[in-house]
Amino acid sequence: MPRTLITGGAGFLGSHLCDRFIAEGHEVLCMDNLVTGNTDNIAHLFERPDEQFKFIHHDVTDYIHVGGELDYVLHFASPASPADYLRLPIQTLKVGALGTHKALGLAKAKGARLLLASTSEVYGDPLVHPQPEDYWGNVNPIGSRGVYDEAKRFAEAITMAYQRYHGVETRIVRIFNTYGPHMRLDDGRALPTFMGQALRGEPLTVYGDGSQTRSFCYVDDLVEGIYRLLLSDENEPVNIGNTEEITIKAFAEEIIELTDSGSTITYEPLPQDDPQVREPDISKAQRTLDWAPQVERRDGLRKTLDYFQDAVEASTTA
Ligand code: NAD
Ligand code: UDP
Repeated sequence: MPRTLITGGAGFLGSHLCDRFIAEGHEVLCMDNLVTGNTDNIAHLFERPDEQFKFIHHDVTDYIHVGGELDYVLHFASPASPADYLRLPIQTLKVGALGTHKALGLAKAKGARLLLASTSEVYGDPLVHPQPEDYWGNVNPIGSRGVYDEAKRFAEAITMAYQRYHGVETRIVRIFNTYGPHMRLDDGRALPTFMGQALRGEPLTVYGDGSQTRSFCYVDDLVEGIYRLLLSDENEPVNIGNTEEITIKAFAEEIIELTDSGSTITYEPLPQDDPQVREPDISKAQRTLDWAPQVERRDGLRKTLDYFQDAVEASTTA
């Protein structure tokens, strides 16, 4: 039975990875300090026997001790929403730098393969569109988003260094905007914010004129891509995301329609360095992993709506 450590395992993506790896027969160790995650996301796993699932409350910027053997380390710990990393700038830099260093040190000591959760933010406000993996990006290191973007760029650099100089087996996934159940209602990202506002009948807050674009990937598609990448021989970064690009204004309108809401749209200032466009070039994932997204945005949003209806209800009765 493979033994797998998932850092950030109580977060949105980490909790879906815990489910998937348990389903694949792995023993999963879920490590999290709950700074942006929540044990509600993994509550259903607590009844599993220890041989299948264990939760370890730990900050991965401190030395990581794991007894016994380890086959895989999936390093997902990091604040991920702009609101979170602007609120937690130092923690974000520390987990990207010190946390990735500790995770790599652990992988080296155990002879485990490490997969790093990187991000489309390494491309910054891109001057090449769509973004292929060999684009080096356009990042403002001293802007407010720099704490996240540069932490992830450092994380990629140290991961490649451990691969080259220590021979650690590593994989790097560059994740583009992903959505689905277990996102925090108040995490400030566009989708939870718009869903919450539409379900409460409040105006949807579009930043700027809403002409900026994103390409939203349903979480099950992302998890499948990550699983294939981990088991593949591809040791350089791979983009995983959906290629269906949409403006944020059109996205807000789509959510109003989906929720059958009477909400309107209000416009608020665009945050500093907010990328104007974003869409992954996924030809490398298609070629090397035989992977492509399967879930249409409309279907993915419908699956996500049930979760947010419950979340909104819980937040109003709390
Ligand atoms: P999330 O905030 O839901 O999950 C992150 C988890 O990491 C949380 O449970 C948090 O408590 C934990 N964490 C943060 N710092 C920690 C530390 N020092 N020690 C231990 N645990 C810590 O965010 P998410 O959307 O699930 O993102 C997970 C990973 O995927 C992040 O590394 C993020 O950068 C990356 N990513 C996500 C997206 C996306 O669209 N969701 C896009 C690109 C990259
Ligand atoms: N956005 C918005 N209103 C909100 C939250 C976000 O218009 O209430 C915009 C944001 O400025 C960005 C896009 O939606 O252009 C996606 O934002 P998100 O925080 O989801 O992700 P990221 O910027 O990291 O892609």
